[in-house]
Amino acid sequence: MYLVDYHIHTNRSMDGRDALDEVCMAAVKNGIKEIAVTDHFEPIKKDPEYKEYDGKACFSDILKARKKFEGLLTIKFGVELGHPHLYPKQSEKIISQYPYDFVLASGHKMPGDMDFSQVDYTDSSLDKFFRLYLSNLKELVLWGKYDCIGHFDLIKRYAALQGVSIDLMLCFPEEVIEILKIIIELGKGIEINTSGLRQKSGACLPDYDIVKKYKDLGGTIITVGSDAHKASYVGEGILEGIQLAEAAGFKCLAVYDKRKPYYIPIEKIKRKNTKETA
Ligand SMILES: [Zn+2]
Ligand SMILES: [Zn+2]
Repeated sequence: MYLVDYHIHTNRSMDGRDALDEVCMAAVKNGIKEIAVTDHFEPIKKDPEYKEYDGKACFSDILKARKKFEGLLTIKFGVELGHPHLYPKQSEKIISQYPYDFVLASGHKMPGDMDFSQVDYTDSSLDKFFRLYLSNLKELVLWGKYDCIGHFDLIKRYAALQGVSIDLMLCFPEEVIEILKIIIELGKGIEINTSGLRQKSGACLPDYDIVKKYKDLGGTIITVGSDAHKASYVGEGILEGIQLAEAAGFKCLAVYDKRKPYYIPIEKIKRKNTKETA
């Protein structure tokens, strides 16, 4: 099988635990053939340049790991930009500065640095918050200088922690469809983030209904990533994520090289006992 994991954090992320070497060893052990390392660039009001992010060191890690794991693992250099539409100057500087293969854009915070974990999801004014979440996501996708949108319905993760289940597609279909259409018109993709499978929400971010709608509207670019923040999670849920893509009608997964998407047939990804690579 040619399994890929396109969303991984190392200890170059503030919330990542293990060094790239350990991440790569875990990937090989877990049968993953290609990874994209997507450490956080996460500007906030107090630190819009986000000086904690050391792109040079990240790239140097990648170059060393590519040599060490040559023939065993394909390692792509990525970044996960947190809410780049709120910090466009800083985010654009980062992506022009380093030779990324893959750029994920993710809405982690609302304007004003409000964290999704601070929201009371049992509150009756939630409807207003969801609309705000979706209008913020719309601004993010319109920014347009990314390859894929990370965990489209991330608030599902935090709501689940408070025992609330959220289905954006069911409650706000018009808004979700409008956002998906923008992503498609811009020629961009979405990821199936499998972290939800090992968390309380128990489902991928996004799940079948949004992935299927993206496909039905004409979307063609789908990646699958574990969002591992420690080595042992690398590759976790990837097979389930691939099954979800297939169920939604996708025949191929996207991988990236120097910001260009390439497509691997899912049939080839799942083929056993082969040394074939993409
Ligand atoms: Zn994220
Ligand atoms: Zn992430």
